[in-house]
Amino acid sequence: MSFTFSREEAVLFDQQDELSAFRDQFYIKEGQYYLDGNSLGLLSKKAEQAVLSLLDSWKNYGIEGWMEGEHPWFTLSEQLGEKTAPLIGAKPDEVIVTGSITVNLHQMLSTFYQPDGKRTKIAADELNFPSDIYTLQSQIKLKGLNPDIELIKAASDNGTTLSIEEIDRVLTDEVAVLLLPSVLYRSGQLLPMKELTKRAHEKGIIVGFDLAHSIGAVPHELHDWGVDFAVWCNYKYMNNGPGGTGGLFIHEKHHDRLPGLKGWFGSNKEKQFDMAHTFTKADGAGAYQIGTPNILSTAPLIGSLELFEEAGIHNLRKKSLHQTQYMADFFEQKLRSFGMKKVTPSADEDRGGHIALQHPYAAGICKAMKAEGIIPDFRAPDIIRLAPAAFYTSYQDLYEAMQKIQRIMETEAYKNYSNERNVIA
Ligand SMILES: *Cc1c(COP(=O)(O)O)cnc(C)c1O
Repeated sequence: MSFTFSREEAVLFDQQDELSAFRDQFYIKEGQYYLDGNSLGLLSKKAEQAVLSLLDSWKNYGIEGWMEGEHPWFTLSEQLGEKTAPLIGAKPDEVIVTGSITVNLHQMLSTFYQPDGKRTKIAADELNFPSDIYTLQSQIKLKGLNPDIELIKAASDNGTTLSIEEIDRVLTDEVAVLLLPSVLYRSGQLLPMKELTKRAHEKGIIVGFDLAHSIGAVPHELHDWGVDFAVWCNYKYMNNGPGGTGGLFIHEKHHDRLPGLKGWFGSNKEKQFDMAHTFTKADGAGAYQIGTPNILSTAPLIGSLELFEEAGIHNLRKKSLHQTQYMADFFEQKLRSFGMKKVTPSADEDRGGHIALQHPYAAGICKAMKAEGIIPDFRAPDIIRLAPAAFYTSYQDLYEAMQKIQRIMETEAYKNYSNERNVIA
């Protein structure tokens, strides 16, 4: 299918869009083209209501709020884990809402990384997010080993994407755990999780994924694929707000494993208040919680997950693919000649929810976009990420934004801005 990139076409797409009504559920700033839902999703009215409702239960119940009110706090993390499960193809007790990516990764590595004989290494990739790599380095050090030796990274020959062969090369019989992102945060490449899990398991390697850039954008079948563990944040496509509580998945085949980092909120709930010094773990993923949950930072997810249930992740994915296709084709036809390179893979099955454009003046271009009301994000050294959010980005928004980007490139308006990144990019 080819696009005409006319305003009429965008209007028609909006009329045909079965998800278009969800836009009214979100707070969208007039005159702004928000294409940064992959860094911080926007606030929905339901999420706002949920926060107010939990403030209300604090107001009305005090400490009794742990067991009383519309959403008793004591079991909230488990309940929201159950509601998250369909988004990642998990069983309800394989998911818990807790922590942040970095903390949950420390928990999962402490639980799964058991160097044994010559199997002492962790495999990752050289394009991974810094915090994930720092976690692996510290976990190796905590075992008294040397990260420079024990952390091996799949190398990318083009600097933006990874092939199965490149990953295969690090899957040796010295590797204990493989950690990969589901979607590479810069280029937006979606890795073949099912195939990689199979290959790693054939070599006896435990497999974990960081779903930061796929949860809420891409459907998963983690249970059926046999993935051992996964972690994610909820402030990106999940719209759970800044610093909103994240989540983790641990396959039921591992539920007998003691958490590497024990804490009282990982206890069996009946026993937790026995205050015994012997830890009795919860049965499911809840066992891998550590301390008291951040209730107010979890609250928005109550509303947000209702929206996901109403919309359906497969419908969201379908719209997202169509919108990123629109942007990718616009790029091919209108922007390529300005020295921009699209680094996101073209095939549907190889891309997540955003399009990444590479340009030597990327930081300056992002500033010129912001001056026009377009909110992208910049990833050093030279990547512009643009993420339409299927819940709230309209085709008319995309049409306007792409026209403005074309004008910025034609007029070289970005040369009015420095090419330095801001403190937060
Ligand atoms: C967003 C992101 C993070 C952030 O980690 P936090 O602990 O939630 O701050 C980590 N890893 C990846 C791949 C990300 O995209």
